[in-house]
Amino acid sequence: MYSAVIEELIEKFERLPGIGHKSAERIAFYILERMSAEEAEHMAGSIIKAKKSIRLCECCQNLTDQSPCPVCSSPKRDKKLICVVESPEDVSAIENTHEYNGLYHVLHGALSPMDGIGPDDIKINELLLRLADNEVEEVILATNPTVNGTATAVYISKLLAPFDVKVTRIAHGIPIGSDIEYADKITIVKALESRQLM
Ligand SMILES: [Zn+2]
Repeated sequence: MYSAVIEELIEKFERLPGIGHKSAERIAFYILERMSAEEAEHMAGSIIKAKKSIRLCECCQNLTDQSPCPVCSSPKRDKKLICVVESPEDVSAIENTHEYNGLYHVLHGALSPMDGIGPDDIKINELLLRLADNEVEEVILATNPTVNGTATAVYISKLLAPFDVKVTRIAHGIPIGSDIEYADKITIVKALESRQLM
């Protein structure tokens, strides 16, 4: 229907999460008709710059342009506490509450045997390494209350049993089957406050 170049652009946007064919078309035509060449170049440049400079924090595995990341290297954070989450979006949802002052550990996924995702495919070993040689007193398992997130929390709690740390699970203020990322601030704060020993 369109020229091959336009089709290719639409196809690229269609690969993004939450973007269907119609939205992809709308974005492509917005760029072609409404954006100046300079604006479009800036946008493409931002993607390239972010892809080149963003990597994983050597400590918490969150996305960062400096490693250790600002949270891990901040003297103001409570290093006795590690909150384990599935994704960088979860970190930002919890940070937005301004109520949690510990460190994080980003797994980059959850165990999912159906999709072939096992312990070595997410950042579990990196978490164990962090516990080996420091002052951590409590690990809060804040994976999503989905089937996979819960299975991941149970799996990790078993691995942590030999360590001298308290292992807690966030309370079910977060609706079952949902994503922490989309929970409101009060729900996140309550879920963290009423965490329970695993
Ligand atoms: Zn970090």
